[in-house]
Amino acid sequence: MNSHIYDVIVIGAGGMGSATAYHLAKSGANVLVLEQFQRGHTFGSSHGATRIIRFFYDKPFYTELMKTAYAEWRDLESVSGKSLLFITGSVGIGAKGNPYGRAARQSLDAAGVESEWWDATQLAERFPQFRSTDGMEILWQKDTGFLRAAECVSTHLQLAEQHGATVRAETSITNIDWQTDIPTVRTENSQFQGRKVIVTAGAWTGKLLAELNLPLTVTKQQVCYYQPTDSKRFQPDRFPVFTESTPDGEFIYGIPVFGSFNTGGGLKIARHGRGQIISPDTPDRTPDADYIAHIDAYVQKRLPELGTAKHTEVCLYTETPDEDFIIDTHPHCSDVLIAAGFSGHGFKFCALVGRIMSELARNGETDFDIHPFRIDREHKISSGIPRLQA
Ligand SMILES: Cc1cc2nc3c(=O)[nH]c(=O)nc-3n(C[C@H](O)[C@H](O)[C@H](O)COP(=O)(O)OP(=O)(O)OC[C@H]3O[C@@H](n4cnc5c(N)ncnc54)[C@H](O)[C@@H]3O)c2cc1C
Repeated sequence: MNSHIYDVIVIGAGGMGSATAYHLAKSGANVLVLEQFQRGHTFGSSHGATRIIRFFYDKPFYTELMKTAYAEWRDLESVSGKSLLFITGSVGIGAKGNPYGRAARQSLDAAGVESEWWDATQLAERFPQFRSTDGMEILWQKDTGFLRAAECVSTHLQLAEQHGATVRAETSITNIDWQTDIPTVRTENSQFQGRKVIVTAGAWTGKLLAELNLPLTVTKQQVCYYQPTDSKRFQPDRFPVFTESTPDGEFIYGIPVFGSFNTGGGLKIARHGRGQIISPDTPDRTPDADYIAHIDAYVQKRLPELGTAKHTEVCLYTETPDEDFIIDTHPHCSDVLIAAGFSGHGFKFCALVGRIMSELARNGETDFDIHPFRIDREHKISSGIPRLQA
């Protein structure tokens, strides 16, 4: 038995685990982070250059939480001295009266966040790169932008270490024993004890907490990168983040050109939606030709200057049935906390989730409204597990 008892063990050093470790270590906790792969690996959900950060959501509680999330990211920039968050503004394109646009506008209004409706003429005046939007309505929101995803993860981890956290890579946890006085986590040949254990294991959460039968589905996702000839027209200072709700219920999004073309950078475009269900341990990482053709066809209509996709990247979503997160204590042990099921839209919240998990671990509560994320939420996303704690 390893005699050292940590205040908190964090399982998983992705977006959520790295932020959680930072907030805990900053507040003086003795933290151990355990990661099954190497630091900065590309097998989970937080790798790659960029992720969208936005206020607009059809569910108002996300918009409200984003106020603190933005502040946390700015705080991380100021502490680290790095530029991590770039504001571009966003255009949300949709058919007139589309339900997502209406709901997002209502959430913004309720939170006091400014936005504007544009028509196709206004869009063409401001961003002529977009084509064929006659008859559509466009929601402009000036605070949207993107985060440097991989850089955010490494920054949180580095700062956590500066505050005394220990990060052990290539350490795969096979079991969490929460029935002992102090929870014990085990690898194949070692074990560690922590007064609290936080599971931020992304796509592997369902496997690690198999006893809970959490309703998590892991899907393969692909993003396409475009490298326009006139790349200046698509840089963050001249081109916004965009989203489009299509009449067939698709949600397409794009992020301006970022990073060098020589090292695989470009303008990122993808479809947010349920992909092929896979196992995170044996994910199929081959590019899907039909998907690329689908995104290329969209680009040809909407942004023809981009040409065709130059390369793709595979990433995993861990989805709940309602696409809302799981942030809660283990139903049978209040010393084990869970942050999972970020359903393809969690990255923008990492800095805030880290703070929330730190508060939950240290104080047993948080001032943030996390009731939409309870395991036993109203619509019974769990398989009927009785809750033993409030
Ligand atoms: C293609 C794509 C685009 C996205 N775009 C956006 C966006 O624009 N905006 C946005 O807000 N969000 C976006 N997201 C979602 C966001 O990236 C994720 O919600 C977020 O990264 C999830 O972070 P995580 O820490 O839960 O998972 P991960 O980053 O995968 O971290 C989990 C970590 O736990 C480790 N681990 C798992 N099991 C074990 C174990 N047993 N022992 C030790 N370590 C373990 C894993 O190796 C991994 O490092 C996107 C996701 C994808 C895939």
